[in-house]
Amino acid sequence: MFDPLVSPALQQYPADYCQARSNLLNAMEKQTCLLEHEAIRHDAKGALGEPLFTDILWLGRNDAENVLVLISATHGVEGFAGSAIQHDVLLQLARTALPDNLAVVIIHALNPWGFSHLRRVNEKGIDLNRNSVDFQQVLPESADYNLLAGSILPTDGNWQAADQQLLLHAAQWGEQRFRRAITSGQYTHPAGLFYGGDAPAFSRQLIERKLGGWQLDQRQVLVLDLHTGLGPFGHGELVCDHPADSLASHKARQWFNRLVSLPETGNSCSIPLVGLMDYLWHSAMREDGIYLTLEYGTYPVLRMLEVLRRDHWLYAQGVPDFCDPQAQAIRAELREFFDPDSTLWRESVLLRARQVIRTGWQRLLGVDSGA
Ligand SMILES: [Zn+2]
Repeated sequence: MFDPLVSPALQQYPADYCQARSNLLNAMEKQTCLLEHEAIRHDAKGALGEPLFTDILWLGRNDAENVLVLISATHGVEGFAGSAIQHDVLLQLARTALPDNLAVVIIHALNPWGFSHLRRVNEKGIDLNRNSVDFQQVLPESADYNLLAGSILPTDGNWQAADQQLLLHAAQWGEQRFRRAITSGQYTHPAGLFYGGDAPAFSRQLIERKLGGWQLDQRQVLVLDLHTGLGPFGHGELVCDHPADSLASHKARQWFNRLVSLPETGNSCSIPLVGLMDYLWHSAMREDGIYLTLEYGTYPVLRMLEVLRRDHWLYAQGVPDFCDPQAQAIRAELREFFDPDSTLWRESVLLRARQVIRTGWQRLLGVDSGA
């Protein structure tokens, strides 16, 4: 009676990184407005030994006044949803002519190693969304993380005592400080959670190189960085990390109304963070250029911390055999947390994406769609 969302992107939802990339390349073949495709090879290998690429597609004219950018897998394992959204967009673009004044840029699998190995971080344990800091300067403090580090990843294997320590600190500090201590980014424990690295990561460098050539300061830009893992199950929130009083943040709220949240004001599923990829784009765009994270909720934050602790503990013992049963169990937990095995969840993801992308597209072209 009521049809579900009919999209090959749902039917061909990627089982792994290889399928995600082949969906992308197949859909790319059907584009009449593809101007450029750059496949950037990463040195590291995938979980099955496959080569890894970040693929960047520019569709439309290179002098388009308006640019819509879609990024997937900044946090590797979150790439399933992001890649499916990009696939859905390409399938629709194959049937729709792009206006002369709009270009669409697809950045597929920014962290392909994490995508393939089912981890948030890259092959060096770096969280790309904490890596965009100036490594020539004094790095952000992580005193609270340092206090908890031994309990986050207990080297003696005593998880019970470690959990008690964490609970104690959570009760003493309150939820905000506790969550900030663990997740806001740290630069002292390379095996730990939310580690920002000690130098610009390869994926950051490739974005900086592309930003150097795209002249985004002369165009109107909307970037949607596709993530999963924060917020209510299946809900897509537009997280805006521009300063609350900036032109970009006013414009984002005007375009998308209350779908937009601002971590700075405390009304978001996310908290203020250091080293976000956003900041590279902010400085490459005009003052009114908008960068939003489209963040899809899955399960509670505390469960995420549990899953990530086990994942990082496993890698702290050395690179695991991908076929080892314990490693597989931990990988399966990661996959389920960041990409729930649920048709309803995946359908919600694609529906919200269509809504947000359609609105962004219209707004870039100056159409007031009545948000
Ligand atoms: Zn993420």
